[in-house]
Amino acid sequence: GTPAADMYPRKILEYMEGFLVSKVVFSSCELGVFDLLLSAERPLSAEEISQAIGASLDGTQRLLAACTGLKLLNTLQDNGQVLYSNTEQASVYLTRSSPLSLYQSIQYSSRTIYLCWHHLTDAVREGRNQYEKAFGVNSKDLFQALYRSDEEMVKFMQLMNSIWNICGKDVVTAFDLSSFKVICDLGGCSGALAKQCTSAYPECTVTIFDLPKVVCTSREHFVTEADQRISFHEGDFFKDPLPEGDLYILARILHDWTDERCVELLSKVYKACKPGGAVLLVEALLYEDGSGPLTVQLYSLNMLVQTEGRERTAAQYATLLTAAGFSNIQHRLTGKIYDAVLGNKEA
Ligand code: SAM
Repeated sequence: GTPAADMYPRKILEYMEGFLVSKVVFSSCELGVFDLLLSAERPLSAEEISQAIGASLDGTQRLLAACTGLKLLNTLQDNGQVLYSNTEQASVYLTRSSPLSLYQSIQYSSRTIYLCWHHLTDAVREGRNQYEKAFGVNSKDLFQALYRSDEEMVKFMQLMNSIWNICGKDVVTAFDLSSFKVICDLGGCSGALAKQCTSAYPECTVTIFDLPKVVCTSREHFVTEADQRISFHEGDFFKDPLPEGDLYILARILHDWTDERCVELLSKVYKACKPGGAVLLVEALLYEDGSGPLTVQLYSLNMLVQTEGRERTAAQYATLLTAAGFSNIQHRLTGKIYDAVLGNKEA
């Protein structure tokens, strides 16, 4: 039929240009706009900003205007001049030094994820990640590709780190884990979730199990000696024995791998786990009918372009856990990005 005269493809236009918004955020962060406005402690003009960040006046003016439209910057008129300042959200999340900063995540999105997504069409066609095309690296060993340089590894670790300052407490308290004293965080990376555990559960100790070079960097840059209840264990969780524990946390681990590899890993966890112990999966859960949440549907595509895995529903995780021997499987939604699934090993 003929479309109604008042029909207007608002959504489609918004989607078509969604990446323009991402790029404005990436570039403003990279140029240090929000950091500058934070340290200036007073509203600045486009001239002052362009000079301080070493960018063209014309380009800066347009970027600042777009940031204003996105409600990341506030403007005020001063003697016919426009002055810019950070909105509260920009100060808290887009500046480097803020404790809740997403700056490093944005950097990783800009420099790595965005480049992989350039090859999304091929990823869908081929059903596999696009590291070779995007970065010229062999992706046979996933984490060798992800950690293709020390710099990339640190960037990845910073990405992993930042989200737990924002929603880590919700996932570690989604279930009462206070009865588990010896916790092993498999693929615990920078230790951000381990810190959330030790602060939520004063009696527990957490061992971070990760690849040797990740452990080394985590020790040097992320976990201080003051975190006395956090220790490290270097190893490959597919090849090496796992330390014994009451609770194993696998946060954003299974979404990297195929069902077969997940069951292989969970079976090892089941064997190492003390009777009466448990495994906690921390993942973004899809609705059972696959109809959402949109963020998780997009994350699943991100897993396609970047990893060997996918995002799953609670029932799909339950199937993997059951195959590995775990029982009494429950899940809790947190209302934020990441949710929790708990499986028990009978006493
Ligand atoms: N759990 C952390 C979090 O949620 O922030 C990090 C998740 S990250 C997607 C996957 C982690 O698994 C990385 O820290 C990586 O180094 C680790 N990893 C990958 N393969 C591994 C292996 N074979 N043995 C041990 N750790 C591994």
